[in-house]
This record gives sequence, C-alpha cells and structure tokens, in this order.
Amino acid sequence: MTHANTLTIALSKGRILKETLPLLETAGIVPLEHPDKSRKLILDTNLPHVKLLAVRATDAPTYVNYGAADMGVAGKDVLMEADGDNLYELLDLKIAPCRLMVAGPQGAQPAGHRLRVATKYVRSARQYFAAKGEQVELIKLYGSMELAPLVGLSDVIVDLVDTGNTLKANGLVPLEHIAEISSRLIVNQHAYKLKHHIIVDLVQQLQQAVNDNG
Ligand code: AMP
Repeated sequence: MTHANTLTIALSKGRILKETLPLLETAGIVPLEHPDKSRKLILDTNLPHVKLLAVRATDAPTYVNYGAADMGVAGKDVLMEADGDNLYELLDLKIAPCRLMVAGPQGAQPAGHRLRVATKYVRSARQYFAAKGEQVELIKLYGSMELAPLVGLSDVIVDLVDTGNTLKANGLVPLEHIAEISSRLIVNQHAYKLKHHIIVDLVQQLQQAVNDNG
C-alpha cells in the first residue's frame, strides 16, 4: 500500500480519462499537468497528498488489487475480466456508458459446429453462455472483433456497443444483451480500512459530482 498520508489514484487512459478528469475536478482534484499531454506516468495534483497514475485501462484493476494504487477508475467490462480479490467497487461513476453484447450477422447460426464466439471478453462470454447452458467455442482476440464473423473466424462476437455504428459499418447487428457497462470507482480493501476518512470524503464528493452530472 502507498504511504499512509497519501492517496494514489489509478486512472484508465483513453476515453474514460477524458470523462474522469472533470469529475475529479468537481471533487477538488486537478492534475498539475494534463495526463494526455504529459509523458509522466505519475502526476502531481493541486493537493500535495494526492497523486494520479495514468495506466492502460485493462491494467487499472491490477494496480489497485495489489495496492500500488489506493483507488482507481476502471470500466465494468475490464473489472468483469479481472481478478479482484482485494478490491471493493464503491461507486458507479456513470461515465463511458455502453453495453456488452453478442453481435453477428443477422440470423447467425453455426453450420454444423458449436457456436464460435470471438471476443476480448473471454471470462464474461464464458459466464454468459454457461449460464444459458450453451456450449460454445471461445476464440480470444485483442481487437477489431467485428472482423471475425466477416472472414469466417467466428459465428458471432462479444463486444462493447455504444452507438452501434461500428457493427452497422461491418454489416453486423446486436443479437443479445449481456451487461450494462460504465466506469466504476474501485478501492484497495486494505487502503479502504487504513485511509478510511480521506477515501470516504472523496467518495462523497465524487457521488455528488455524479449526481450533479446526471
Ligand atoms: P460504437 O460504434 O459507438 O457502437 O462503438 C463500438 C466500438 O467502440 C467497439 O469497438 C467498442 O469496443 C468500442 N467502445 C464503445 N464504447 C466503449 C467504452 N465505453 N469503452 C471502451 N470501448 C468502447
């Protein structure tokens, strides 16, 4: 865990970061340099005891789970795939909202084999199809899932859908809804005990900022 008098917050870079900074600012935390413009990975803020880490979105839960960061902001999609034994999910920040869905060509049917599902979200997909009692073949991809059904790699995909434009542009349609996704405030369980007051204060301010937003 980080020093008792400091608070380190891991922020997911990319689209989540853009929406996190205004929330933090409402809660009185402003980085001294913009994380997207700086090459620094540890950022000082206007509050001497608060530091921000700019990390890859998929890594945010890892930093918090191991206590290298006390708190973090991570997408629910990432949390569903991550090991989080030492984490609490404290708050739905309601940012970067989208849906985790099964998608594919209209009327996608496996031709004489188990349904092949290409996805980055293997754990979520496995759980979803297992809960339906459906045996599927999962194919792990790291990006551009939409390509897989177009070239016969898979029958369907499991991916995040926001506007649906990416699916449409590739002749695919949303088929089944798996989960509503948004970014969550997470905290390391030990940090939550040992830095309770400072964390609870921040959570209250962020809750207020979320309510004001929406
Ligand atoms: P859209 O075309 O608006 O439906 O966006 C879909 C594409 O953007 C997919 O490739 C998704 O993986 C990605 N995407 C959409 N929403 C999010 C989000 N909240 N976080 C991360 N990736 C997203």
